[in-house]
Amino acid sequence: MYHADPADEGEPSSGFFYAFSIPAILTSILLLSCQEKNKKELVIRPVVVKDTAKPKETKPPPVAAKPKKKKKKIYLTFDDGPNKGTKNVLDIVQQEEVPVTFFIVGEHVFASPGQNQVWDSLKMAENIELCNHSYTHAHNRYDKFYQQPDSVVKDIKKTQQELLPETNIVRTPGRNTWRIDSLHFTDIKKSKAAVDSLQKAGFIVFGWDLEWHYDHKTLQVKSTADEMLAQVDSLFSKGKTKVKDNLVILAHDQVYHKSNDSMQLRDFIQKLKKKDNYELALVSSYPGIAKDMIDSVRAAPQ
Ligand SMILES: [Zn+2]
Repeated sequence: MYHADPADEGEPSSGFFYAFSIPAILTSILLLSCQEKNKKELVIRPVVVKDTAKPKETKPPPVAAKPKKKKKKIYLTFDDGPNKGTKNVLDIVQQEEVPVTFFIVGEHVFASPGQNQVWDSLKMAENIELCNHSYTHAHNRYDKFYQQPDSVVKDIKKTQQELLPETNIVRTPGRNTWRIDSLHFTDIKKSKAAVDSLQKAGFIVFGWDLEWHYDHKTLQVKSTADEMLAQVDSLFSKGKTKVKDNLVILAHDQVYHKSNDSMQLRDFIQKLKKKDNYELALVSSYPGIAKDMIDSVRAAPQ
């Protein structure tokens, strides 16, 4: 009990105890009584406060807005159309509502009424871009083609004049070459002079980072959608693209003519769409291209 046993208080003398015991007891009683009162008040007060208190604010404290994470860009490009696979590719990308770029071979547009019809569909379609992949595709004899830079420029210009006057973006047939602003790359050095000539003539030359390979005899894809996706992840994480956080994929229209292959293409696109950190884009939005396009238009003879 509080102060009941003086022995607990250390070493008070017995005189001290007797001199002050009665007032001390009285004080103790008073204190106890006050404490009891206080205790009661302490017990009661929170109840009263609780009853009369204003309702608690439910608004959460302000949180700083998270900066939007910049997405990595993927440029899906299809070469060599219009051909038997082009319509399938166009249907899939339109249904999936993704932007893609087609690199057109000029003479394929006039090769058959069917191909001409597909060309019309391509021109009408939205959310796609049409770029130049030469007129003859070098007749698939690349070494000979690139030996004559002037002929290469002439061949590319033919497609531009007849079919694609609004673009300067070109992909060289059979060669992975780049000429965008300060980005220069030539896979097979023998074609360097010809590709330089294209740049001098005002063209932007656009290569690729990753190819979706196919068997040239059976026209079947060599990698599944999942295998392609793993390669995309790997190239990004290892920083092995020409421009950081930008990846160009080369695919070929004719491969997606058959249902199994076009199923792989659809699967690949659907899986890319589900990835939060990636977005598909048109080649004209590739870093450095807008600047080059403006410069080329300025430099173009009237
Ligand atoms: Zn090609």
